[in-house]
Amino acid sequence: FDDRDGVIWYNGDLIPWRDSKVHVLTHGLHYASSVFEGERVYNGTVFKLTEHTERLHESARLMGFQIPYTVEAINAAHDAVLAANGITDGYVRPVAWRGSEMMGVSAQHNRINLAIAAWEWPSYFSPEARMAGIRLTTSDWRRPDPRCAPVHAKAAGLYMICTLSKHKAEQAGFHDALMLDWRGQVAEATGANIFFLMPDGKLHTPIPDCFLDGITRRTVIGLAREAGIDVVERVILPEEMARATEVFLTGTAAEVTPVGGIDDLSFTPGAVTRTLIDAYDRAVGRTNTLTASASTSAA
Ligand code: PMP
Repeated sequence: FDDRDGVIWYNGDLIPWRDSKVHVLTHGLHYASSVFEGERVYNGTVFKLTEHTERLHESARLMGFQIPYTVEAINAAHDAVLAANGITDGYVRPVAWRGSEMMGVSAQHNRINLAIAAWEWPSYFSPEARMAGIRLTTSDWRRPDPRCAPVHAKAAGLYMICTLSKHKAEQAGFHDALMLDWRGQVAEATGANIFFLMPDGKLHTPIPDCFLDGITRRTVIGLAREAGIDVVERVILPEEMARATEVFLTGTAAEVTPVGGIDDLSFTPGAVTRTLIDAYDRAVGRTNTLTASASTSAA
């Protein structure tokens, strides 16, 4: 993904995509002192940009460093990078990390770098195609106890278990992994939150006390309530999943993605999922309904 045209915003400058490099002794590479965001642009507007930028700042704070640009400056940098690359529908990836000035676990004074890349990502499956649903398998890896990691940071280090889980799921023929938390409760997928429509007619979703409370998750909870669908945030045990009548994931990349199966359970995405796909499309202002590859792969 490094050999292509375009520019990346890098510590205040727009520089050629191919030249946007880090040194091999970067602290962020060795010790995972790196935080990032994943955002989508629809019709030239980044959906919930300020929420994403504020979360980037908060992730850095949880990781013990401060990004040397204000929320306003980062938002303006988004405009610059999108304009320079001519992107109106796509994905934006801001990333902040400790630099390579000192090598070692402690590198308190290393420069904090910020880069913002954006690329075209105009297409998605039509709602009909998406309604088939993706298949998940339960991962052996679990979301860690909040005493073991800064679980609310969108921090690179926390994605180690996501990549391990997702690769294993893909190698077994599934699209993604379902992750339990350290207690054995249902948590989320590797880059998206999860919802279950239960026989009581309500949407049930796990309490995000050891994983990201996704911006899409919060948006979809609001859209569901506006549509008259009750949402319950509670502890969900894996054995309860068999009673679910519809299951879907939410995330910036995933948007609202129906789930057709988890291990040997099958689900048929239905009216509630469809209602929320449509409501989310309206909320983001989607006008491009071309069919192509949907993905939950960019976290
Ligand atoms: N959980 C994980 C692990 C994620 O990577 C993401 C994507 N950022 C989410 C949940 C969903 O978050 P959001 O809706 O803010 O994209």
